[in-house]
Amino acid sequence: MALESVIIAGGGMAGFTAARQLREKGFTGKLVIVDPEGLPYDRPPLSKDYLLAKRDATQILLSAAEWFTENNVEVITAKVVELDVDAPSVVLSDGQKLNADKVVLATGGTARRLPIPGGQLPTVLELRTMEDADHLRSVLGEGVRLAIVGAGLIGAEVASSALQLGADVTLIDPVDPPLVPAVGEVLATRLHRMHGENGVEVVTGVPTEITVNEAGVHTIELQDSGKVEADVVLVGIGIVADTALASASGLDTDNGILVDESQRTSHPNVYAIGDTARTRLPDGTLLRRAEHWEHAMNTGATVAAALLGQDLPSHGASWFWSDRHGVHVEGVGSMLGDGTLVTRELDGIPVAAFRIDDQGLLAGCAAIDGGLMVRAARRIIDKQKPVNAEQLADPSIDLKKLAR
Ligand SMILES: Cc1cc2nc3c(=O)[nH]c(=O)nc-3n(C[C@H](O)[C@H](O)[C@H](O)COP(=O)(O)OP(=O)(O)OC[C@H]3O[C@@H](n4cnc5c(N)ncnc54)[C@H](O)[C@@H]3O)c2cc1C
Repeated sequence: MALESVIIAGGGMAGFTAARQLREKGFTGKLVIVDPEGLPYDRPPLSKDYLLAKRDATQILLSAAEWFTENNVEVITAKVVELDVDAPSVVLSDGQKLNADKVVLATGGTARRLPIPGGQLPTVLELRTMEDADHLRSVLGEGVRLAIVGAGLIGAEVASSALQLGADVTLIDPVDPPLVPAVGEVLATRLHRMHGENGVEVVTGVPTEITVNEAGVHTIELQDSGKVEADVVLVGIGIVADTALASASGLDTDNGILVDESQRTSHPNVYAIGDTARTRLPDGTLLRRAEHWEHAMNTGATVAAALLGQDLPSHGASWFWSDRHGVHVEGVGSMLGDGTLVTRELDGIPVAAFRIDDQGLLAGCAAIDGGLMVRAARRIIDKQKPVNAEQLADPSIDLKKLAR
């Protein structure tokens, strides 16, 4: 039976891409996005240009409002609160009940809270939504003491942006350096040192308790390493996949809604994409759940093809980027795992890292201000071209040549 209607729960990058791709691939049926945040917008600027007020709410929309009218995509500002997988149908927070041939869950995740006393305090902030960014910006300013718990991608980006807003920033992480799984030890060390060089106070420690006094001053107690006082506390320690709807309706979940390679969940009427989805291979192996922008976009494209019975697109190695302290970081593939790690230096400064796996194939690459190199590395990974460590380490060798 031809597909006539689709409901997409969640209008982030994944849900929006699914809608856009469905239309681009010729789907003319009813298409509804349900999201309590309204029109789909882009999250990466929330820790960068949007936080710095260099771009406003309209400028981070994934598409202008007219696009939705022109493409006959209805956006309902509400939450999906119930899912009946057999019908399939959904109930919204405004009481509406909607039916469709297929439902796509693109509900992303919520910021992980610190599992310590005080971790749930309403004044301990998180950054996931535009509203969070608005609030964070409103409390930052010249001389405001900001403590950030978690020096991963978002924590590091906010540290850099907050400096530009005049804040005194302390960045706390139990690990030194963080981000090794994403960029490898050498680049992680260079990136982490940059915080100190730019004026961030870097603390290695494990928070054990957060308290706030009547004047609004927070104290973060650290295991074995004293305490940090701050006017504003932000926690950036990753997300928890939003699986509530899926598990309540009996779908298989395990730190994410489990999907096959076509993004189909354990029920044929329901698909899941983006940060909330986790791939289960035919042999039962669970892949690591990705929390990156491009992955959200790719899975949106895959689900559109799957719903229309078209060939699934192939996306190649996964890719992410991050910006802080005036540098641009990119990574492709996986720096985590066995094999050989290779560093490329320029004038004695590490600019790129590579992982060669046990078969002599490039498995991952990360670079600082090396977008073209990462693009070439991606082609090498996707083509499965054997590489040699000396060439990768040699800054005079253009990676593009190796990718041919
Ligand atoms: C501050 C910040 C900076 C980032 N920077 C980068 C970066 O530099 N590079 C990079 O690669 N990635 C970055 N990311 C990650 C990237 O933005 C995410 O991977 C991507 O947004 C995931 O898209 P998604 O559509 O799966 O989920 P989301 O963008 O989280 O969207 C999910 C949507 O679902 C909605 N929703 C939730 N529950 C329901 C429900 N029950 N019913 C209806 N709707 C619901 C939510 O309101 C939300 O709009 C960043 C993320 C953040 C928060």
